[in-house]
Amino acid sequence: MLSSSSFRLPAETPRLKHQIVIVGGGSGGITVAARLLRSAGGKKLDVAIVEPSTRHYYQPAWTLVGAGTFRLEDTVKPEADVIPPGASWIQERVAEFHPAENLLVMSSGLEVAYEYLVVAAGIQINWNGVPGLAECIGKDGVCSNYSFDTVTSTWETLRKFQGGTAIFTQPAGAIKCGGAPQKICYLAEDFIRKRGLRDKSRIIYASPGTAIFSVEKYRKVLEEVVERKGIETMFRHNLIGIREATKEAVFENLDTKEIVPIKYDMLHVTPPQSAPDFISQSPLADEHGWVEVDQYNLQHKRFPNVFSLGDCSSLPTSKTGAAIRKQAPVLVKNLLAHKAGKPLEARYNGYTSCPVVTGYGKMVLAEFDYNHEPVESFPFNQAKERWTMWILKKYILPPLYWSGMLKGLV
Ligand code: FAD
Repeated sequence: MLSSSSFRLPAETPRLKHQIVIVGGGSGGITVAARLLRSAGGKKLDVAIVEPSTRHYYQPAWTLVGAGTFRLEDTVKPEADVIPPGASWIQERVAEFHPAENLLVMSSGLEVAYEYLVVAAGIQINWNGVPGLAECIGKDGVCSNYSFDTVTSTWETLRKFQGGTAIFTQPAGAIKCGGAPQKICYLAEDFIRKRGLRDKSRIIYASPGTAIFSVEKYRKVLEEVVERKGIETMFRHNLIGIREATKEAVFENLDTKEIVPIKYDMLHVTPPQSAPDFISQSPLADEHGWVEVDQYNLQHKRFPNVFSLGDCSSLPTSKTGAAIRKQAPVLVKNLLAHKAGKPLEARYNGYTSCPVVTGYGKMVLAEFDYNHEPVESFPFNQAKERWTMWILKKYILPPLYWSGMLKGLV
């Protein structure tokens, strides 16, 4: 990539200019755009969203799709339908950031200049990060809830499962929705049990971590769930390869460096993830590749007219849509304050939420902040499996997302 200082473009390069440019029209980008257009205090803002995809996904429901209890088609809408009225949609892919020049370059060569930039480009899924995975994903027992294109393979694999070994993996490093790899494990166990196959099945949850959950209050109940369901845990184990021909998942024991191959009949893979390459190679990145923002005010640490939220940001919390719901109002208030020459007073406390589905009709709603302290929304103990929380996940949160959060209302 060109460095900002060596950056020169021919005079005839096409160029657009907008007051506020948002990179990414996913959960974070659309929520911020909607809030900006609502909170401009009557003054019309010129907001543009750069988003190459024609489709917008409600990813949290993929857990339920993979378990055969939610329709795939209800997790997607045309991008055009979620772009807020008054915002411009630039249907392009950003290739380069030139923050010193307040300029973006698209992969088509188009330049887009801005006064303010919001980066909400999500996380990158590295299907090539596990040797063998890209070749066998979606077939012959290997499946993943982690994309629109592969999530139905989870349900197909579960339906075809006739007993044997079912393995569920969590990769090393940051991922979106850290709880999703275990949610599908619990649902699969429930499904296998209901079909009378539990006695013929071994269910393994493998993770590089040292415990089932990072927040103590929820860890206790989830350890009981694992125990009750007879799930074998393999902590400190990282999936490093898949041997398709022999149907073996190959793990590395991170402490002993021992290589552990295990035969599988079902293998649900959560692929390794990282900051998107076009961000990690840009001047906006921190040493890990994420957009380097202040964890409380969401402003870039080196470029004051740049803000970021969601999965691509350096915010040290669990990457979820629920976190974005609390980040977006803070970002919008602070961006508008900066624009008005006022101090940035809004603060984000790291709030995130993980609706841990523990079976069909059961859920623990984990909510916590930067300090891993519970920050619960309901006046009852949320560290308890509840049917009402399942109803929330399956029937209430999806419409709240489409009609509330993406409209800048909740
Ligand atoms: P995204 O919503 O992924 O949007 C990023 C956008 O950037 C995309 O539209 C993409 O096309 C665009 N983009 C990428 N590259 C470029 C580029 N070069 N130029 C321009 N645009 C670009 N969250 C919860 O809160 N609760 C849950 O229960 C939950 N469960 C989940 C289960 C699964 C299986 C998965 C996969 C996710 C789950 N999540 C959950 C996480 C949640 O979906 C994400 O955290 C959230 O969508 C992140 O929003 P974002 O805006 O950062 O990224």
